[in-house]
Amino acid sequence: MTEWRTPPIAFGARHSELIDHLQNDAAHVDADLLNALAQICETLVDDVSTAEASRDWWPIAMHWALAGSVPKRPSVVVVPTNTQQVAAVVQLCHEAHVPLTASAGRSGVCGAAVPVFGGVVLDTTELRGVLSVDPISGVVEVLAGTFGPELESHIQNNYQRSVGHFPQSFDISTVGGWVACRGAGQYSTRYGKIEDMVVGLEVVLADGTIVRTGGAPATADGPDLTNLLIGSEGQLGIITRVWLRSHAVATYSRKIAFSFGDFAAGINAIRETIQSGATPAVLRLYDAAESKRSHGMENGRCTLIVFDEGGKRMVDATIEQLIECVQNHGGKDEPTELVDRWFEHRNDTTALQALTQKGFVVDTMEVSAEWPRLADIYEKVCASGMAVQHSRLVSCHLSHSYPDGACLYFTFVATPPAEQIESSYIEMWNAVQGAALAAGASLSHHHGVGLNRARFAPTALGKGHDLLIKLKQSLDPHGIMNPGKYAIPSTFSHAGDEQWP
Ligand SMILES: Cc1cc2nc3c(=O)[nH]c(=O)nc-3n(C[C@H](O)[C@H](O)[C@H](O)COP(=O)(O)OP(=O)(O)OC[C@H]3O[C@@H](n4cnc5c(N)ncnc54)[C@H](O)[C@@H]3O)c2cc1C
Repeated sequence: MTEWRTPPIAFGARHSELIDHLQNDAAHVDADLLNALAQICETLVDDVSTAEASRDWWPIAMHWALAGSVPKRPSVVVVPTNTQQVAAVVQLCHEAHVPLTASAGRSGVCGAAVPVFGGVVLDTTELRGVLSVDPISGVVEVLAGTFGPELESHIQNNYQRSVGHFPQSFDISTVGGWVACRGAGQYSTRYGKIEDMVVGLEVVLADGTIVRTGGAPATADGPDLTNLLIGSEGQLGIITRVWLRSHAVATYSRKIAFSFGDFAAGINAIRETIQSGATPAVLRLYDAAESKRSHGMENGRCTLIVFDEGGKRMVDATIEQLIECVQNHGGKDEPTELVDRWFEHRNDTTALQALTQKGFVVDTMEVSAEWPRLADIYEKVCASGMAVQHSRLVSCHLSHSYPDGACLYFTFVATPPAEQIESSYIEMWNAVQGAALAAGASLSHHHGVGLNRARFAPTALGKGHDLLIKLKQSLDPHGIMNPGKYAIPSTFSHAGDEQWP
């Protein structure tokens, strides 16, 4: 197991005693297939490896872990070290009609890496390392299982360059996972989401074919195959190699903080800033509840924290433009220590485990929408979540902005009796995601769909969901790749299987 990966929470029982939470007839991996896989690369069948490979950071699975169960154990974990080994593994699973689920940092929060029908888990984390950096174009070629710190330290130390993708889970997630989930880093307003950084991909398709997509910038070579695969969450292929844009490491930075009388005023100030062409790397607006909790803000005021980096002239111009827009909407200066405090605590996730251990239901939902809808989505999601029995809190911040809209990131907490944890979790999600979709928000902004949000996919995508099913059937005719997700019918699902939820 790689040293970068951090398990979400300790199991409440010994690895050998953990039982499967998802009750279905796990796909059979026979001795012949196990032997054939072992000829290709390292295979792991021990209790610890199969238990850990059964889960990710999906919050409800943390409750299951404490209660002594795993989502679903695979029969075997394979650990390839190169693309040819990946292709050979995939081809064997395709021929044997056995489910194959890609698993990387396992930091996903929607159960996307859970092998719903067991079978084979393909651990990508030994496909690691930066292969090349072109100092002229800035294009970085990196293996998909490379974790954030390994990528950035290599290119910053050796080339004084940075990709600029810093998700909160930077330490525990991989390049391939970022691409597979359409991730967003904390500096996204300046550098974009991961899909803005990807130049091309090497992917192993469900029958073992290796394809290379992309290459030159902004081509008109037909539909964009790279973008088809970005966000496919292991459903359409295994990403083995990624070409990413990078930029020179910033030499200058500025930070600044403000507060507003209400959330809507802050939203308008951000919109005006972005639409004026100023794109500070970090631009985060917190509602009154989060401003009070995280910044000690009183009287319902909402905090805006800002950080920018790059060349001096561009950063100074950006901040000047921002100040003008903030003043237009009644923003008040606040100490820059608020930004320092955010930097100090921004990747601290200990609160999640502590609340889970106390039996709290706690999760986050990030959605995006156009500017005119945001205030309404905010009100409706909060009201809908708070109407659920045992709900304690629904709060929000705006974390990523675009000319046409932004991402709203909600946190919700409920304190149900122990026997209602799962039903309460499902009810909270039905309330908040249902309200968000009804008010015109997307299904997700950067966490992806996974298992948790699969039930909302047909509503969110409409006829697009049928198109997705056709694509899946065409690229993966035996349905082996990460089955049981995205509300895509699976050949591994049988009458009588327990469905989640
Ligand atoms: C504390 C915390 C904070 C987080 N903050 C952020 C954030 O700021 N921004 C953000 O975007 N996300 C965030 N996340 C979510 C998560 O880190 C991202 O979704 C991340 O991109 C997942 O990467 P991973 O390597 O852990 O992938 P995994 O969780 O292992 O896998 C996720 C999905 O991608 C598929 N997959 C992984 N690698 C490949 C591959 N090589 N080829 C094909 N499919 C693959 C898997 O099958 C699965 O469906 C956070 C998670 C946690 C726990």
